[in-house]
Amino acid sequence: MNLAELAQENLRMFGSYTNLIYEGRAYTNVECDEASSKLAHLLHQLGIGHGDRVIVTMQNRPEVLWSYTGIAKAGAVTVPVMPLLQAQEVKYIVQDSEPKAIITASLLLSKVQEAVKDFPKPPAIICVDAQGDDSLEARFKDFPATPPDVQIHDDDPCVILYTSGTTGRPKGVILTHRNLYSNAKAAALLANEFAAASTLERTGLIVLPLSHAFGFTMLQSAYLTGERSVLLPYFDPKLVFEAIEKYQVTHFTGVPAMFHALLNHPDADQYDLSSLTICISGSAPLPTTTIQAFAEKFNCPIFEGYGLSEAAPVVTAPRLNDPVKIGSVGRPLPGVEVRVVDENDQPLPPGEVGELVVRGPNITKGYHNLPDETSKVLKNGWLYTGDMARIDEDGYVFIVDRKKDVIIRGGFNIYPRDLEELLLQHPAVAEAAVIGIPSEAMGEEVMAYVVKRPKAEVTEAELIAYCQERLAKYKTPRYIKIVGHMPKNLIGKIDKKALRAQAEKEVT
Ligand code: ATP
Repeated sequence: MNLAELAQENLRMFGSYTNLIYEGRAYTNVECDEASSKLAHLLHQLGIGHGDRVIVTMQNRPEVLWSYTGIAKAGAVTVPVMPLLQAQEVKYIVQDSEPKAIITASLLLSKVQEAVKDFPKPPAIICVDAQGDDSLEARFKDFPATPPDVQIHDDDPCVILYTSGTTGRPKGVILTHRNLYSNAKAAALLANEFAAASTLERTGLIVLPLSHAFGFTMLQSAYLTGERSVLLPYFDPKLVFEAIEKYQVTHFTGVPAMFHALLNHPDADQYDLSSLTICISGSAPLPTTTIQAFAEKFNCPIFEGYGLSEAAPVVTAPRLNDPVKIGSVGRPLPGVEVRVVDENDQPLPPGEVGELVVRGPNITKGYHNLPDETSKVLKNGWLYTGDMARIDEDGYVFIVDRKKDVIIRGGFNIYPRDLEELLLQHPAVAEAAVIGIPSEAMGEEVMAYVVKRPKAEVTEAELIAYCQERLAKYKTPRYIKIVGHMPKNLIGKIDKKALRAQAEKEVT
């Protein structure tokens, strides 16, 4: 099954119904399907066909969905690009992926034009909210509402997804139709279990950027469950509260920074959020303090899953009937296998910490144009995630930290996440990030950055003393710095690369 067929499957299973609400307007699945078929014809008319790349860059809006499906129906490959990237960063992706077209919106048009201006054969630009003869309506007019006849194989590339680059330069992860479909299907199976336990009409809120693997798969999975999705252009706590209240949203998927912002918003109590039954978090560690506070304030549990772009993206997720294990990211999705291995690639017994490796139909073929990088992460059919983890006797996965973030101080391994969790338990601490900084004497020293809660009073020395009382001496941060805010990447993860650069300047 490929992504072009997914839209057909949805129509077959659910008939015509409202599957998307955006800025107060309801869109039926038939409408979305027809728009995507017309777009596929338009791409063919522009000479774009099997295997050609098409960049899609705009804020969340229905045309993103039409574009992804339309590009798949044309047999071409979607390259989603975060709308917040700068022209230089877009230029890098254009250079690397060599797209034949860029689909964008007027808000981003000048940036896109700037990014492509130096290319001898610049890609065609399609602006989804252009007016007059250039409008989609005018351009779609003569095309049939049924998809073109294109042979698509399940192992054809469907998407090239550029990673957010938290640990280096963005790499284009090639995801095939099989990778994406299998992941959306498995996620939909689990979502169905949760939905069966609720009496309300199932309505999901999609606010994650559709240009990121997490948002992309949540949308495809919603297609397969037949639920109604409320799509927001971007994350804003007030927009989220309003949407939950107005549309009786039953579930919301986000990243930890979003849950943190909702929890700490001064107006949260002014809305009726009682329809919200479950939330799902992924993409970065979710502090246990956030889970507890969220459940108390909104009477709604947050379930934590784990994934990465290279796995299209979901690897593990909690199940409705599984007992909750604090700190776990659940068990592997149906059809996905996980292991923890040591430095010599040997599987480790339950409970031992090593690198998490993953195998299954969702795993990428590799990185676009980067064979050496590909062979570093794909070995004997297993994806090496770069994440340290342990798996318990019952098969639950616990992410310990990123391998690259582990601090080695005087020969001892220190996992920053343990220290971050401890700092977050301090009543004055809103956010915490721990990094290693070079030290001649110890190899590395531990440094923590902290953002205080509004109006809270605490000094750096007091926080060091707090850690000293609770931690082994070798783990205690040598430096703690209170800052106004944390640098974050476009999906809201704390950017440790930026913090390391900052620390280099601050600590001599
Ligand atoms: P780059 O690969 O360029 O460094 P990135 O790692 O941020 O960028 P993504 O694919 O967006 O790329 O993120 C995947 C990573 O996010 C995982 O490898 C893991 O480190 C982290 N992650 C995802 N979910 C969780 C989770 N529940 N708990 C802890 N970490 C998580």
